[in-house]
Amino acid sequence: MKYEITGTTKLTALLGSPVSHSISPQMHNESFRLLGLDYVYLAFDIKPEQLRKAVSGLKTAGISGFNLTMPLKVHILPYLDELTPAASLAGAVNTVIVQDGRLIGHTTDGVGYMRSVSDAGFDIIGKKMTLLGAGGAATAICVQAALDGVSSIDMFKRKNATWDKTAAFCERVASETGCNIRLLDIGDNSLLGDSISGSAILTNATSVGMEPKSDASPILDPYMLAEGLIVSDIIYNPRETLLMKQAKERGCPCFNGMYMLLYQGAAAFERWTGQEMPTDIIKEKYFS
Ligand code: NAP
Repeated sequence: MKYEITGTTKLTALLGSPVSHSISPQMHNESFRLLGLDYVYLAFDIKPEQLRKAVSGLKTAGISGFNLTMPLKVHILPYLDELTPAASLAGAVNTVIVQDGRLIGHTTDGVGYMRSVSDAGFDIIGKKMTLLGAGGAATAICVQAALDGVSSIDMFKRKNATWDKTAAFCERVASETGCNIRLLDIGDNSLLGDSISGSAILTNATSVGMEPKSDASPILDPYMLAEGLIVSDIIYNPRETLLMKQAKERGCPCFNGMYMLLYQGAAAFERWTGQEMPTDIIKEKYFS
């Protein structure tokens, strides 16, 4: 299909720092090309102190929407006119849509994660999740899992300076969604073992196991991983983390964060264009 940038081409973008390694420009531009949509997607290296000027300039230039990656997902909040309920609960935004000059903040990381779980062939609705980590990705997953109807979530993190803030987050999400959410100490192996033994899925949303420190796992005792437990690591670099190796040895089905990455992008694409990203083709081209 003919694909040309013209005087009417609509701009979408990724803002963050660093961004040069990101696969998002390929994934979006190829989807625009495949569907014959008059859009282009560019990556801009923007640091927190440059964000106000960048947003104002892009808005003036008529941008249709943009994604935010580290470290901007929270820094963007003061510049937005409205938040979706999920973004408001998560307190972070990875997708902005410009509607009639107003900036609407969405979060699609959680939607992308939940779609990656079903895509891997699992149904966790009405079941319990043990979630490791409480950073940007973990909170987005927690919110979407609770909204979608996961019955209970045990969120594990370190007892550090962000403990109280995370406890308040868990209370808020529990009271707004009806999901039973507990915040627990990741350093307590006995609590962790008990939680995992009652869960359908163990999700690693910490950065433990990510390159360049890929010889680490958030699970110190692999015997906690009972056969049949679904083990999901949202890390995608490396493609197979030490946690996934442990899971395989214990007979647990497992999958990495590649398709979460794909589906969070697909959800943003659908919000900008009103069309479905051709994920099967994009998967084969960039994610296999
Ligand atoms: P973040 O906001 O910096 O959060 C990092 C989390 O990891 C925090 O909860 C932190 O725990 C925990 N952590 C770090 N070191 C730890 C350790 N030694 N022991 C226990 N916990 C530790 O980062 P993020 O944006 O949420 O990203 C987290 C991971 O998810 C990264 O590996 C990232 O690449 C991946 N990710 C994947 C996707 C995808 O689409 N697949 C999307 C976003 C992120 P405390 O709260 O206890 O300090």
